[in-house]
Amino acid sequence: MELALDSDTARVQELFGRQRLAFRRQAPPPVQVRLDRVARLRSVVVEARERLFRAVHDDFGAKSREEFAVSEVATVVQACDHMSKHLRRWSRPWRVRTSWRLWPGRSRLHPQPLGVVGIVSPWNYPVYLSLVPLVGALAAGNRVMLKPSEFTPHTSDLLLELLDDAFGDELVGVVPGGVEIAEAFCRLPFDHLLFTGSTEVGRKVMMAAAENLTPVTLELGGKSPAVLSEDVFRPKRIHRVCVSLAIGKLINAGQTCIAPDHVWIPRRRRHDFVDAFTAAVRELYPTLLDNPDYTGILQERHFDRLTGWLREAREAGVEVISLEAPGEEFSGQKAKLAPTLLVDPPDHLAVMQNEIFGPILPIKTMGDVDEAIEGINRRPRPLAMYVFSDDRRIRRRLLSETWAGGVSVNETLAHCIEERLPFGGVGASGLGSYHGEYSFRTFSHMKPVFTRTALDPMKVLRPPYGDWARRILDWLIR
Ligand code: NAD
Repeated sequence: MELALDSDTARVQELFGRQRLAFRRQAPPPVQVRLDRVARLRSVVVEARERLFRAVHDDFGAKSREEFAVSEVATVVQACDHMSKHLRRWSRPWRVRTSWRLWPGRSRLHPQPLGVVGIVSPWNYPVYLSLVPLVGALAAGNRVMLKPSEFTPHTSDLLLELLDDAFGDELVGVVPGGVEIAEAFCRLPFDHLLFTGSTEVGRKVMMAAAENLTPVTLELGGKSPAVLSEDVFRPKRIHRVCVSLAIGKLINAGQTCIAPDHVWIPRRRRHDFVDAFTAAVRELYPTLLDNPDYTGILQERHFDRLTGWLREAREAGVEVISLEAPGEEFSGQKAKLAPTLLVDPPDHLAVMQNEIFGPILPIKTMGDVDEAIEGINRRPRPLAMYVFSDDRRIRRRLLSETWAGGVSVNETLAHCIEERLPFGGVGASGLGSYHGEYSFRTFSHMKPVFTRTALDPMKVLRPPYGDWARRILDWLIR
């Protein structure tokens, strides 16, 4: 076993060595070559979408086909198209103003590929979270090693096959494997490492990368709150709000990094919210167990983790409202978990201490919005926040007095889909960002270049310093 691991680690190191050598031996790829690579990646995903769906379905046990098409295929296609449209402009050196002190001269920024880039992806959206970072890394002209999750073995093996066929492993090398391989992977002296996963593992990744001074982008998780203000509790309005919340919470059965983790509502609106949320769930998912639109929980251990937290809440006397459809029998199966509301669970329970990552939605009731602001700021900074309010003053307060990686107002998930917005966390939810132009910049070195274009009028500031130098310095530092 140990020997096998050693040889796996050696293979990862050997692949890195070959990629690095190939990068050094060839001049950085011209923009047309990068555009071709992005287009090739797009075709791979579009042509293999049915095989990719089967792989993800097998990994999850149950996965909605349409949800897969939206979240794992359309998103990658959109990232490729946006990149293809703008790459020529982004990759051109561009001029910035030169201050009069350096006149006559020219200042420019020259985007340059970094070299060999590492990408580590998690299991929850195994195609999207592997390939969207890859779009940016290839567009910027890098070679890439990708370590997908060991918990989606069908998808990881298929990605290896497809990317190897399309690019060869010296351009895109896929390294499937468990924690030991992941650790060896993160110890490689990459020119940049983008990690998507939990905050806990992100810490370890950053420590491993620090050994080589490898710059990191950390796309982590957290407990993303939603806040509903009093004014949205009008009959049609609260229905729309709850539909948006239920979509954000229940897509991929809550196994989404930016899913609303828990929701703050005015104390006296508790029953209105439960009724409206239940109606929204019924409308979106009339049944659950046999419904192909409702995705399963990836693994038994995650199922047990979530049901264990529910048991703990029940034992603590918390009101637990399971939204299974009438006549459905959930007990005894471990594939799907019904959407479940918890009313005001105390903060010491596991469900309030950890990122939920499942279809459980705790309701926190508040006297006023100050209480929500206080509660949000008491926790580590989340990856996302959702504000549902028609009151501009409340919206402004929530936006300026709390911190989150990104925010959607009167909507869930949308800020992550907009290619023109950077996507990333803040504090414990991550470091750096990507998507669209931000991906290109993350995977490029923006090299500052100054060019002297004529005689230097400031040469009087060189030694031996004379009277003129002293006069100019007196004038500059006045
Ligand atoms: P995870 O951190 O357990 O694993 C992610 C990846 O890290 C896997 O490929 C795994 O093999 C690797 N890994 C495991 N141990 C490692 C180690 N010691 N050193 C280096 N790599 C190691 O995360 P997960 O369970 O796959 O995914 C769920 C988490 O990811 C949630 O916290 C979720 O919020 C987060 N997430 C964040 C985003 C985002 O964009 N910010 C997106 C999806 C998921």
